Amino acid sequence: MHSAKLSYSTSRRPGTAPAASWAGAPSARPCSNTSPTQLPPSEPRRERVIFVSSPTDAPNERVLIRGAHVLTGDDRLGDFAGDVLVSDGKIVDVGTGLVDERARVIDGIGHAVLPGFIDTHRHAWQGALRSLGPTWTYPEYREHVQIRLGPHLTPDDVRIGNLAADAMSLDAGVTTVRDESHIMNSPAHADAAIQAHWDSGIRAVFAHGWPSTEAESWQFGSDRLHPEDIRRVREDLLADDSARVTLNAMLRGPELSTADIAARDIALARDLGLRISMHVGLGDWGAEQHAIAQLAESGALGPDMTFIHCCTSTDEELRMLAGSGASASVAAALEVFMPGLGQPATNRLLAAGIRPSLSVDVESAVSGDMFGVMRAALAYQQLVRAGAGGAMDVGDTPTFDARDLIGFATIEGARACGIDDRTGSITPGKDADLMMVRLRDPNLLPASDVPAAIVTGGHAGNVVLVMVAGRTVKAGGVLIGHESIAEEAARSRDRIYRAAGLSAPSRPAGVSAVGSPASHEETF
Ligand SMILES: [Zn+2]
Repeated sequence: MHSAKLSYSTSRRPGTAPAASWAGAPSARPCSNTSPTQLPPSEPRRERVIFVSSPTDAPNERVLIRGAHVLTGDDRLGDFAGDVLVSDGKIVDVGTGLVDERARVIDGIGHAVLPGFIDTHRHAWQGALRSLGPTWTYPEYREHVQIRLGPHLTPDDVRIGNLAADAMSLDAGVTTVRDESHIMNSPAHADAAIQAHWDSGIRAVFAHGWPSTEAESWQFGSDRLHPEDIRRVREDLLADDSARVTLNAMLRGPELSTADIAARDIALARDLGLRISMHVGLGDWGAEQHAIAQLAESGALGPDMTFIHCCTSTDEELRMLAGSGASASVAAALEVFMPGLGQPATNRLLAAGIRPSLSVDVESAVSGDMFGVMRAALAYQQLVRAGAGGAMDVGDTPTFDARDLIGFATIEGARACGIDDRTGSITPGKDADLMMVRLRDPNLLPASDVPAAIVTGGHAGNVVLVMVAGRTVKAGGVLIGHESIAEEAARSRDRIYRAAGLSAPSRPAGVSAVGSPASHEETF
């Protein structure tokens, strides 16, 4: 370690004072209109795997990135201009003037190195249903995707959807995704979803959910217990909590089932040693259910839980959440694009003492790109600051800036998934989950403030290098090894629509591949 040469960067930490009234802020309510064995990569359990070459570099490669602007995301290390040494899948050293004669050297000058983004809530199975409904309301989304299409996905459609989601994630610097998989129509669907994450090379927290068959009977007052197959998945497929693909439980909680069902589901998850994620505060329904308060009363709230959305959870509930040590996931883009859920709770969570993580949610409606999620969160804050009457004074309510957003999208995501011991920051000893962003690109130069440049202007095209646990999955600006996914995704989408009795959306000619090797002059 060369910590003596590092400069410590102070980042503003929003206060944790109790919620203050926020002049000009809209109501918290929603808009009124609305060990045993695990599968090794490329070894299918039940599904035929057509996919794709694996990411190339061996994970034990030694790589030395030199001369980059490093945003470590580690409060002890801060930001500095210098070097990052990766070996055996780990970050082994950071500092200035690092030398390692065995390492392949990557010129980082003019680039930022930062931790890979962590998306704490994505329904990855919708990867091949990408961008179908940018103007859907929440009821329209449920009707179209969950009720009409969901029952017709085969296990192979789930595999392809997950691969499509993972490919775009890796391309855009997302190195970890928590896949909230409410497409557990059969055990084979679970197997296929997990297989895709092994094959894609991403770090995945597979959150086992419920089926999309008879979708309406599984949500909004459901009296059905969580599918028992989660036990098999835990025991047979994902017993190792230190693996690249691990298991969580995506539960419905008291908001989407009943208090009794929620208690039994939570007991099952904890019996299996699984962290829990739960959608709460969804629109008017969530405002009536007070799910977090119900869980607090029953003594079930705990630090092993992540609460997703929280749009219409009360400020008091958010303080209960904070008091329990639980975490939160704000799907800012989805919440502002899809009427019916409520507004992003980012500032209210900060006021309650919680630094949230960020998430994409459904690619059928919004981009799976965390740059877009960060921008949406910021846009909503600034909209609120402007206020209905143009008031700019938000009083004592904590606000956030670009640096905070990068923290929400990285280390807070790792904490929310319980994997901050291995990822979420550029810290020696952690796995090498990182990306390199070219600051000399026309949309980012002169990058006067690096976090601000990345948040306001960044996109996947600026991401030139991505590593997951030291394995290079994108190099020279080109995603490695997902050549067949565009064709597979189009075929899968067409098949799902036909099975649902719908005519498939038209597709443009020539959409056949992502990543075109040798299209870029730089190599790393
Ligand atoms: Zn969701």
